[in-house]
Amino acid sequence: MPEELKTKAIVVRAVPYHETDMIITLVSPEYGKLTATARGCLKPKAKLRYAAEPMNFGDYLLNGKGERYIIVDCSQIESFSSVTYDIEKFYAASLVLEVLAKLTPDEPEPALFLDALSALNDLTYSKKDTDEVVTDFLLAVLKDNGSDLDFSHCNVCKCDLTGDAYFDVADGIVCEHCKNFGATVIDGVSRAYIGGENRDIPHELKARANMLVAEILYSLLGTRIGSHYFAEQL
Ligand SMILES: [Zn+2]
Repeated sequence: MPEELKTKAIVVRAVPYHETDMIITLVSPEYGKLTATARGCLKPKAKLRYAAEPMNFGDYLLNGKGERYIIVDCSQIESFSSVTYDIEKFYAASLVLEVLAKLTPDEPEPALFLDALSALNDLTYSKKDTDEVVTDFLLAVLKDNGSDLDFSHCNVCKCDLTGDAYFDVADGIVCEHCKNFGATVIDGVSRAYIGGENRDIPHELKARANMLVAEILYSLLGTRIGSHYFAEQL
């Protein structure tokens, strides 16, 4: 492990430590997940307070030996702080950070990092619908991990899917005739929404479709995403 390390990174987690320190988890596109102490950042007028804020994206200068670094400096690129003004966007952004944290091991995952950055940018600056940002982010994550799912054609017989579809790990998205026992039902409305055929549906239905995508992600990648985003939909 180098003594000094300079990298772009996003804060995915921050926990208070001792009186005025924070222990933060950073995800870097070059180094994967890193743990660092932000010393004295809870003191009033602390210079690097923002460097320990969840969602902060910056150029970090870290120093350290062993398992934990110390934040020496950080020049902020983007805080994404305006996302916190809208509770739905905030929950969606939290989901993005959660997925980034859980699916980045010690090894770097640059494609996932870029997907997360792009989703946070969309939530903060674009007019794109919040639920759709989440859908597209989760689909991109699946694609990065080797599962480019087609919601318009049966993955076995290649027929055009019109109504409901079915999912299982062995065959992916399939039609009624090709489904295996115990496959997850993807109702027709969710299927057409996820696949982009019809995105003009109410928020509740988009949220239900996103839960199905999260379920598929869990089946394929073994990572449960149980953030506030879904808790809020129940
Ligand atoms: Zn089929």
